[in-house]
Amino acid sequence: MLSASDTIRRLGGLARGTHLQRLGFSRQALSRLVQRGEIERVRHGVFAVAPVDAEVRSAVAHGGALTCASVLHRHGVWVLDADDRPHVWVGSDRHPLAHDGCRCRTHFGAGRPPLGETGVDRALLVFRKCAGDEAFFAAYESAWRKGLLPRAARQRIRSALPASARWLVDLARPDADSGLESLLRLRLHLLGISLDCQVALDGVGRVDFVAGDRLIIEVDGRENHDGTTMRHKDLVRDAAASRLGYETLRFDYAQVVYYWTSVQAAILAALHRARR
Ligand SMILES: [Zn+2]
Ligand SMILES: [Zn+2]
Repeated sequence: MLSASDTIRRLGGLARGTHLQRLGFSRQALSRLVQRGEIERVRHGVFAVAPVDAEVRSAVAHGGALTCASVLHRHGVWVLDADDRPHVWVGSDRHPLAHDGCRCRTHFGAGRPPLGETGVDRALLVFRKCAGDEAFFAAYESAWRKGLLPRAARQRIRSALPASARWLVDLARPDADSGLESLLRLRLHLLGISLDCQVALDGVGRVDFVAGDRLIIEVDGRENHDGTTMRHKDLVRDAAASRLGYETLRFDYAQVVYYWTSVQAAILAALHRARR
Protein backbone atom coordinates (compact mmCIF):
# COMPACT_ATOMS: atom_id res chain seq x y z
CA MET A 1 0.00 0.00 0.00
CA LEU A 2 1.22 3.50 -0.79
CA SER A 3 2.03 5.77 2.12
CA ALA A 4 -0.26 8.74 2.71
CA SER A 5 2.35 11.17 1.44
CA ASP A 6 2.91 9.13 -1.77
CA THR A 7 -0.84 8.93 -2.26
CA ILE A 8 -1.24 12.69 -1.90
CA ARG A 9 1.66 13.21 -4.29
CA ARG A 10 -0.04 10.93 -6.84
CA LEU A 11 -3.18 13.03 -6.44
CA GLY A 12 -1.23 16.13 -7.44
CA GLY A 13 0.08 17.26 -4.06
CA LEU A 14 -3.31 18.04 -2.50
CA ALA A 15 -6.05 15.76 -1.22
CA ARG A 16 -9.24 16.00 0.77
CA GLY A 17 -9.33 14.09 4.04
CA THR A 18 -12.57 12.40 3.01
CA HIS A 19 -10.88 11.06 -0.12
CA LEU A 20 -7.91 9.79 1.87
CA GLN A 21 -10.25 8.11 4.36
CA ARG A 22 -11.97 6.26 1.53
CA LEU A 23 -8.51 5.03 0.52
CA GLY A 24 -7.97 3.60 4.00
CA PHE A 25 -6.16 6.35 5.88
CA SER A 26 -7.95 7.06 9.16
CA ARG A 27 -8.29 10.53 10.64
CA GLN A 28 -6.01 9.52 13.47
CA ALA A 29 -3.35 8.25 11.08
CA LEU A 30 -3.51 11.50 9.09
CA SER A 31 -3.24 13.57 12.30
CA ARG A 32 -0.17 11.61 13.34
CA LEU A 33 1.48 12.22 9.97
CA VAL A 34 0.73 15.94 10.29
CA GLN A 35 2.31 15.98 13.75
CA ARG A 36 5.38 14.19 12.40
CA GLY A 37 5.64 16.72 9.59
CA GLU A 38 5.25 14.12 6.82
CA ILE A 39 2.14 15.79 5.45
CA GLU A 40 0.66 19.23 5.98
CA ARG A 41 -2.88 20.24 6.88
CA VAL A 42 -3.48 23.27 4.64
CA ARG A 43 -6.96 23.81 6.02
CA HIS A 44 -9.44 21.69 7.89
CA GLY A 45 -9.97 18.57 5.79
CA VAL A 46 -7.33 19.27 3.14
CA PHE A 47 -3.84 17.80 3.21
CA ALA A 48 -0.75 18.47 1.14
CA VAL A 49 2.76 17.27 0.58
CA ALA A 50 5.49 19.70 -0.41
CA PRO A 51 6.09 21.31 -2.77
CA VAL A 52 2.71 22.98 -3.24
CA ASP A 53 2.61 26.07 -5.41
CA ALA A 54 2.42 29.16 -3.17
CA GLU A 55 -0.62 30.68 -4.89
CA VAL A 56 -2.55 27.43 -4.91
CA ARG A 57 -1.64 26.88 -1.30
CA SER A 58 -2.97 30.33 -0.37
CA ALA A 59 -6.20 29.69 -2.26
CA VAL A 60 -6.76 26.38 -0.49
CA ALA A 61 -5.92 27.87 2.90
CA HIS A 62 -8.34 30.70 2.07
CA GLY A 63 -11.10 28.09 1.70
CA GLY A 64 -11.46 27.95 -2.08
CA ALA A 65 -9.72 27.39 -5.39
CA LEU A 66 -7.36 29.61 -7.33
CA THR A 67 -9.15 31.20 -10.27
CA CYS A 68 -9.70 34.44 -12.21
CA ALA A 69 -6.63 36.46 -13.22
CA SER A 70 -4.32 34.14 -11.24
CA VAL A 71 -5.25 31.07 -13.29
CA LEU A 72 -5.29 33.02 -16.56
CA HIS A 73 -1.84 34.38 -15.83
CA ARG A 74 -0.49 30.89 -15.13
CA HIS A 75 -1.68 29.78 -18.56
CA GLY A 76 -0.03 32.73 -20.28
CA VAL A 77 -3.33 34.44 -21.11
CA TRP A 78 -3.14 38.20 -21.70
CA VAL A 79 -4.53 39.88 -18.59
CA LEU A 80 -5.19 43.60 -18.55
CA ASP A 81 -3.78 45.36 -15.49
CA ALA A 82 -2.86 42.14 -13.69
CA ASP A 83 -2.15 42.25 -9.99
CA ASP A 84 -0.14 39.58 -8.22
CA ARG A 85 -2.64 38.66 -5.53
CA PRO A 86 -4.19 35.19 -5.47
CA HIS A 87 -7.77 35.41 -6.78
CA VAL A 88 -9.80 32.79 -4.95
CA TRP A 89 -13.26 31.40 -5.63
CA VAL A 90 -14.90 30.21 -2.39
CA GLY A 91 -18.36 29.26 -3.70
CA SER A 92 -21.57 31.08 -2.85
CA ASP A 93 -22.23 30.25 0.75
CA ARG A 94 -18.81 29.87 2.33
CA HIS A 95 -16.78 32.39 4.21
CA PRO A 96 -13.13 32.93 3.42
CA LEU A 97 -10.84 31.45 6.06
CA ALA A 98 -8.16 33.36 7.92
CA HIS A 99 -4.63 32.16 7.21
CA ASP A 100 -1.05 33.36 7.47
CA GLY A 101 0.04 35.96 4.96
CA CYS A 102 -3.39 36.32 3.32
CA ARG A 103 -3.40 38.70 0.32
CA CYS A 104 -6.23 36.95 -1.47
CA ARG A 105 -9.04 38.52 -3.44
CA THR A 106 -12.17 36.61 -2.56
CA HIS A 107 -14.70 35.77 -5.27
CA PHE A 108 -18.11 34.35 -4.43
CA GLY A 109 -20.33 32.57 -6.92
CA ALA A 110 -22.50 29.50 -7.23
CA GLY A 111 -20.91 26.09 -7.45
CA ARG A 112 -18.37 24.05 -5.56
CA PRO A 113 -14.75 25.07 -6.03
CA PRO A 114 -12.46 22.21 -7.04
CA LEU A 115 -9.40 21.36 -5.01
CA GLY A 116 -6.50 23.51 -6.15
CA GLU A 117 -7.35 25.65 -9.18
CA THR A 118 -10.22 26.04 -11.59
CA GLY A 119 -10.10 25.51 -15.32
CA VAL A 120 -9.59 28.36 -17.75
CA ASP A 121 -13.29 28.60 -18.67
CA ARG A 122 -14.37 29.11 -15.06
CA ALA A 123 -11.47 31.52 -14.54
CA LEU A 124 -12.68 33.63 -17.49
CA LEU A 125 -16.22 33.82 -16.13
CA VAL A 126 -14.98 34.92 -12.71
CA PHE A 127 -12.59 37.36 -14.38
CA ARG A 128 -15.44 39.12 -16.20
CA LYS A 129 -17.07 39.94 -12.88
CA CYS A 130 -13.72 40.90 -11.37
CA ALA A 131 -12.27 43.04 -14.15
CA GLY A 132 -15.15 43.90 -16.49
CA ASP A 133 -16.23 43.20 -20.05
CA GLU A 134 -13.22 44.66 -21.86
CA ALA A 135 -10.65 42.76 -19.84
CA PHE A 136 -12.75 39.60 -20.22
CA PHE A 137 -12.96 40.02 -23.99
CA ALA A 138 -9.21 40.46 -24.38
CA ALA A 139 -8.48 37.49 -22.12
CA TYR A 140 -11.07 35.34 -23.93
CA GLU A 141 -9.50 36.04 -27.32
CA SER A 142 -6.03 35.43 -25.91
CA ALA A 143 -7.07 32.10 -24.35
CA TRP A 144 -8.75 31.05 -27.60
CA ARG A 145 -5.67 31.90 -29.61
CA LYS A 146 -3.53 29.85 -27.23
CA GLY A 147 -5.70 26.80 -27.86
CA LEU A 148 -7.07 26.82 -24.32
CA LEU A 149 -10.72 27.08 -25.36
CA PRO A 150 -11.99 24.14 -27.39
CA ARG A 151 -15.52 24.45 -28.72
CA ALA A 152 -17.08 22.78 -25.67
CA ALA A 153 -15.40 25.27 -23.33
CA ARG A 154 -16.53 28.21 -25.47
CA GLN A 155 -20.09 26.88 -25.37
CA ARG A 156 -19.95 26.45 -21.59
CA ILE A 157 -18.76 30.04 -21.22
CA ARG A 158 -21.41 31.38 -23.56
CA SER A 159 -24.25 29.65 -21.81
CA ALA A 160 -22.97 30.71 -18.38
CA LEU A 161 -22.82 34.39 -19.39
CA PRO A 162 -25.83 36.62 -18.84
CA ALA A 163 -27.69 37.09 -22.14
CA SER A 164 -26.63 40.74 -22.19
CA ALA A 165 -22.93 39.77 -22.34
CA ARG A 166 -23.06 36.99 -24.95
CA TRP A 167 -22.33 39.38 -27.78
CA LEU A 168 -18.79 39.60 -26.40
CA VAL A 169 -18.01 35.98 -27.17
CA ASP A 170 -19.89 36.20 -30.46
CA LEU A 171 -17.61 39.06 -31.51
CA ALA A 172 -14.45 37.24 -30.42
CA ARG A 173 -11.96 35.77 -32.89
CA PRO A 174 -9.16 33.26 -32.44
CA ASP A 175 -6.51 35.22 -34.34
CA ALA A 176 -5.94 38.41 -32.33
CA ASP A 177 -2.20 38.81 -31.96
CA SER A 178 -2.30 40.61 -28.64
CA GLY A 179 -4.66 41.81 -25.97
CA LEU A 180 -4.14 45.34 -27.29
CA GLU A 181 -5.61 44.30 -30.63
CA SER A 182 -8.60 42.82 -28.83
CA LEU A 183 -9.17 45.99 -26.82
CA LEU A 184 -8.86 48.22 -29.85
CA ARG A 185 -11.23 46.13 -31.95
CA LEU A 186 -13.82 45.95 -29.17
CA ARG A 187 -13.72 49.68 -28.52
CA LEU A 188 -14.02 50.58 -32.20
CA HIS A 189 -16.86 48.07 -32.55
CA LEU A 190 -18.71 50.00 -29.84
CA LEU A 191 -18.25 53.15 -31.95
CA GLY A 192 -19.74 51.37 -34.94
CA ILE A 193 -16.39 51.06 -36.73
CA SER A 194 -15.71 47.63 -38.13
CA LEU A 195 -12.22 46.51 -38.98
CA ASP A 196 -10.68 43.96 -41.27
CA CYS A 197 -8.21 42.02 -39.17
CA GLN A 198 -4.82 40.59 -40.07
CA VAL A 199 -4.94 41.87 -43.64
CA ALA A 200 -2.17 40.89 -46.07
CA LEU A 201 -1.17 43.79 -48.35
CA ASP A 202 1.15 43.32 -51.32
CA GLY A 203 4.56 44.74 -50.63
CA VAL A 204 3.65 45.59 -47.04
CA GLY A 205 2.93 42.26 -45.40
CA ARG A 206 0.29 41.48 -42.83
CA VAL A 207 -1.11 44.46 -40.97
CA ASP A 208 -3.18 44.30 -37.79
CA PHE A 209 -6.24 46.18 -39.02
CA VAL A 210 -7.62 48.05 -41.99
CA ALA A 211 -10.43 50.51 -41.25
CA GLY A 212 -12.48 52.06 -44.02
CA ASP A 213 -10.68 51.60 -47.33
CA ARG A 214 -7.37 53.27 -46.68
CA LEU A 215 -6.47 53.36 -42.98
CA ILE A 216 -4.02 50.89 -41.48
CA ILE A 217 -4.00 50.59 -37.70
CA GLU A 218 -1.17 48.76 -35.98
CA VAL A 219 -0.92 48.12 -32.26
CA ASP A 220 2.44 47.38 -30.82
CA GLY A 221 2.46 45.06 -27.85
CA ARG A 222 6.02 43.99 -28.48
CA GLU A 223 8.48 43.98 -25.65
CA ASN A 224 12.19 43.38 -25.54
CA HIS A 225 12.70 43.64 -29.27
CA ASP A 226 15.58 45.43 -30.84
CA GLY A 227 14.03 48.89 -31.02
CA THR A 228 16.12 50.21 -33.88
CA THR A 229 15.60 47.20 -36.14
CA MET A 230 11.87 47.09 -35.46
CA ARG A 231 11.53 50.79 -36.06
CA HIS A 232 13.32 50.47 -39.37
CA LYS A 233 11.01 47.61 -40.44
CA ASP A 234 7.97 49.66 -39.42
CA LEU A 235 9.17 52.64 -41.44
CA VAL A 236 9.72 50.47 -44.52
CA ARG A 237 6.22 49.04 -44.15
CA ASP A 238 4.69 52.50 -43.69
CA ALA A 239 6.42 53.76 -46.83
CA ALA A 240 5.18 50.76 -48.84
CA ALA A 241 1.66 51.25 -47.49
CA SER A 242 1.72 54.94 -48.37
CA ARG A 243 2.64 54.07 -51.94
CA LEU A 244 -0.53 51.94 -52.09
CA GLY A 245 -2.53 54.92 -50.82
CA TYR A 246 -2.82 53.90 -47.15
CA GLU A 247 -2.27 56.02 -44.07
CA THR A 248 -0.81 54.12 -41.12
CA LEU A 249 -1.51 54.84 -37.44
CA ARG A 250 0.51 53.03 -34.79
CA PHE A 251 -0.34 52.79 -31.11
CA ASP A 252 1.46 51.21 -28.18
CA TYR A 253 0.33 49.72 -24.88
CA ALA A 254 0.28 52.96 -22.91
CA GLN A 255 -1.77 54.73 -25.57
CA VAL A 256 -4.39 52.00 -25.87
CA VAL A 257 -4.64 51.30 -22.15
CA TYR A 258 -4.12 54.74 -20.56
CA TYR A 259 -4.74 57.35 -23.26
CA TRP A 260 -7.59 55.83 -25.24
CA THR A 261 -9.30 59.17 -25.84
CA SER A 262 -6.37 60.36 -27.93
CA VAL A 263 -6.25 57.07 -29.85
CA GLN A 264 -9.94 57.27 -30.62
CA ALA A 265 -9.67 60.89 -31.74
CA ALA A 266 -6.75 60.06 -34.06
CA ILE A 267 -8.61 57.17 -35.68
CA LEU A 268 -11.84 59.12 -36.15
CA ALA A 269 -9.94 62.05 -37.67
CA ALA A 270 -8.06 59.77 -40.08
CA LEU A 271 -11.29 58.06 -41.16
CA HIS A 272 -12.84 61.46 -41.70
CA ARG A 273 -9.88 62.57 -43.87
CA ALA A 274 -10.06 59.34 -45.86
CA ARG A 275 -13.73 59.92 -46.68
CA ARG A 276 -13.19 63.42 -48.04
ZN1 LIG B 1 -6.25 34.39 1.77
ZN1 LIG C 1 -10.44 38.29 -9.67
